[in-house]
This record gives sequence, structure tokens and C-alpha cells, in this order.
Amino acid sequence: MGGSGISLEGDDLYDLTIVGAGPTGLFAAFYAGLRDMKTKIIDTLPLAGGQLITLYPEKFIYDSPGYRRILAKDLVKNLLDQANQFGPTLCLGETVRNIAHVSGGTIRVDTDGGSHFSRAVLIAVGVGSFSPNKLDRPGIGGFEGRGVYYHVGDRPALRGKRVVIVGGGDTAVDWALNLKDWVSHLTVVHRRGVFRALESSVVELFHSDVVMKIPFEINEVRGGRRLEKVVIFNNQTGDEQVLDADALLVMIGYKTDLGPARNWGLEFSGREIAVNGRMETNIPGVFAAGDAVSQEGSVKLKLLATGFAQAALAVNVAKHYVNPESRIKPFHSSGLTL
Ligand SMILES: Cc1cc2nc3c(=O)[nH]c(=O)nc-3n(C[C@H](O)[C@H](O)[C@H](O)COP(=O)(O)OP(=O)(O)OC[C@H]3O[C@@H](n4cnc5c(N)ncnc54)[C@H](O)[C@@H]3O)c2cc1C
Repeated sequence: MGGSGISLEGDDLYDLTIVGAGPTGLFAAFYAGLRDMKTKIIDTLPLAGGQLITLYPEKFIYDSPGYRRILAKDLVKNLLDQANQFGPTLCLGETVRNIAHVSGGTIRVDTDGGSHFSRAVLIAVGVGSFSPNKLDRPGIGGFEGRGVYYHVGDRPALRGKRVVIVGGGDTAVDWALNLKDWVSHLTVVHRRGVFRALESSVVELFHSDVVMKIPFEINEVRGGRRLEKVVIFNNQTGDEQVLDADALLVMIGYKTDLGPARNWGLEFSGREIAVNGRMETNIPGVFAAGDAVSQEGSVKLKLLATGFAQAALAVNVAKHYVNPESRIKPFHSSGLTL
């Protein structure tokens, strides 16, 4: 945190500036509206929605409160709709580079597009930038985008196709469940008997007619203009099998990087921003919530529900920080007319 002598009032000064328009940031914007805070949201990406829009727009989410299941892109649409009731200012395509206290309790948020001024800041940058782990096997690189994919952006294109998914975590298992009635033939290839995905999803997968290849790994891929064959091998016996395939979905995890947030003077706990039970960082007026944080005394669960709860907590404490006469504890939302 650097400092300069600027202090603002009026239109340019916001009560709360939220860095990150993922699900945590969007729900925080709604909640800040409920608390009558003038709110701005800034995100690097051209679209709001964070990981849901970037990594899994077509995946069903089964553990969002209030929905038996909902597509990630639809949940984002609903979160935006809910937040927009209060008309927050949304600045997309801007990356926050620095956060600095200036005079009069104002915080300046510098982006590659300019400076924003706020009484309080909520950091909801999630895991920062994320990139999929690549599979290093003969042929894979050459078919990327022509049959080998690291995320599913276009579900309709897979209709009726022969699909192989490699991986055993939530992404692989959720996509297998999502696609099993959509594609003509689906095989899951996983290198060991243990799956890291949600237990109920793994049970559902094993009860489905998806072909499971365990303990198998990818040896190589072959084809002409597009992918045609996926060659797999049993890592215990060495047996090789050749699968006919139109698409190979590689879902073996992501690398993440908090990037610029590491230089804002925040205290970290491991790879995450350290917050106390009130979602306060070490910098006065700067709060953090969602995947980005490690909360003192709490088990880390990188889930939507965790981010939503932390957003509500952070906004209520921020409201009191901005206006000490207001209560931290809100009135029930049922008392409001929207
Ligand atoms: C494949 C997959 C499937 C999942 N499925 C589920 C599920 O079924 N149920 C569940 O509960 N959870 C699921 N999760 C986890 C869930 O997506 C995350 O917990 C959630 O997205 C965290 O929300 P967030 O808003 O904290 O962070 P994010 O969604 O990561 O959003 C952070 C936002 O901050 C922006 N940002 C980052 N740095 C900056 C910067 N310097 N300046 C401006 N903007 C910045 C990013 O662009 C991004 O839009 C899944 C995750 C993955 C990867």
C-alpha cells in the first residue's frame, strides 16, 4: 500500500469497491445494495461470472442453495440479475494493479484502465488467473482445438460424438455426468482407483453406463485432420487399448496464480489472503472473501456456498466500517421492498 494526498467526495467516491466479479463478488454486490452501499465491481475478464463462466459454463452445479441443479451460466445470470436490482457500477476488462490508502480514509484502486476511489474494498479475486494442466503425450499438442480440449466451451458440438474424458476429480466426474446422455459413447480414463470428486457424484457415475477405464492412462492420440484414436494403457499390466474418439477432454486440474494481489501489502496464509472471522485483511477497510482467502480458525472449502456466506459477512462488517453508526447485523431482507 502506497499513499498520496488525494481525497474525494461525490460521484467518484464509492462506499464499496469489489475486486472480482465471480460468484462471491456478484453476491457481495447484491448484499451491498441491500445495505444501501454505493457499489462498484471491477473484473479483468470481459464477462462477469469468474470460474463459472470461464471454466465450466455448461456444467451442472448440484450444491448451490435453492437449486436441485443449475447450469453454471444460468447461476451467473441469476446472480447478475439479483445484483443489478441495485444498479452497481460494473467495470469489466480492467485488471486491478494496486490498492492504496489515500487521505481522509479513502482507498484508491488502480487498474490498467485508471483509478477508482472507495471507502472500503472487498477483494474477491478467487484463485486469480487459472490455466489447465496440460497432458504431455505424443500427438496431444497437435490436436489441441481439433479434438483435444481442456475445457468444454461448446457442449452442443459434442452431441452424438464419441468422447473420452481423462481425470478423476470433480471436473472430470461432473462433465462425465453432464455428457453421458448427450454423447453417443463416453469413456472415463483414470490412472488410479481413488476419485477425488464429490462422493455422491462418483457413486452416480459408477451406476451409469459410462465405460470406466481404471487404472489406465493416455499413451498417445492419433488422427488425420481431426482426432480419431486415443491409445490408453493399463499402468499396472502395461496392456494397451485403442479407443475410437472424436473428442478427448483432458480434465486433470488447474494451475492458479493470484498475480498482482501478492503486491498489495496483504498478509498471506500460504497461497491465500489471510482474513479474520470478520473477513478483515491486515489493511484497514480492505476485506476479502471467497476462494482467495484463508479464514482464521476455519476449514478451507473452495465452494460457492462458502463464498456467498463470506460475502454477506464481509459486506455487513464493511457497512459498519464505512458508517460506524450503522449496525453490523442487517435487518431481514423481507423488510425491504425491491
Ligand atoms: C471445474 C470446476 C467446477 C466447480 N464446481 C463447483 C460446484 O459444483 N459447486 C461449488 O460450490 N463450487 C464449484 N467449484 C468452485 C467454485 O467455482 C469456486 O468456489 C468459485 O468460483 C469461487 O468464486 P470467487 O468469486 O471467490 O472466485 P472466482 O470464481 O475465481 O472469481 C474471481 C474473479 O476475480 C477476477 N480477478 C482476479 N484477479 C483480478 C484482478 N487483479 N483484477 C480484477 N479482477 C480480478 C477473475 O477474473 C474472476 O472473474 C468448481 C470449480 C471448478 C474449477
